[in-house]
Amino acid sequence: MAETRDRTGGCSCGAVRFAARDVPLAFGICHCETCRRWTGSALLGVTVPEANVTWQGADRIARRQSSSFAERGWCRDCGSPLFFRFTGNGAPVGGIELPIGLLDDTEGMFAHNEIFIDHKPAAFGFAENDRQVLTRAECAARFPLLDKG
Ligand SMILES: [Zn+2]
Ligand SMILES: [Zn+2]
Repeated sequence: MAETRDRTGGCSCGAVRFAARDVPLAFGICHCETCRRWTGSALLGVTVPEANVTWQGADRIARRQSSSFAERGWCRDCGSPLFFRFTGNGAPVGGIELPIGLLDDTEGMFAHNEIFIDHKPAAFGFAENDRQVLTRAECAARFPLLDKG
C-alpha cells in the first residue's frame, strides 16, 4: 500500500476546515476545461475515501453538479475550491479529491500523473518528474467518464 499521512487544511477565509486521514503522498494534475475554469489554472488534487474526511463549517460549503458523475464544492464565503466528488452514474462512488493548495502542509507529496496535457495553457508548466502524462484522447480511452467533464 502506498504511503499516506494524516493532513489538515481549509479555505482561504477559514470558514471551512477539514481533517483527512490517510492522505496519499501522490496527487494528480488535471488541465481539463472544467478544472481549468473552476480553479483558474489547473486542479492539483489528491484523492481520499470520503469517509476519511471530517469537515468543520460544513454549512458554508456550496455544491454544484459539474458533470453527470461528479460534483464540486467551494466555500460560500471566500470562493476557495474545496473538493471534486464522484456522485455515481457509473463513476467510482466514495472518492473525494481535495486540492492540495488547501493543505496546511504538503511535505513529501509528489505528482503521479498529469492529465489533459494537450489542454494545458502554454504559459505554464510543472517541474519534470517521472509522472504519467496523458492527453485528452488517452484519458478518454482509459477513463471514458472523464471525457465528459
Ligand atoms: Zn472560505
Ligand atoms: Zn479536470
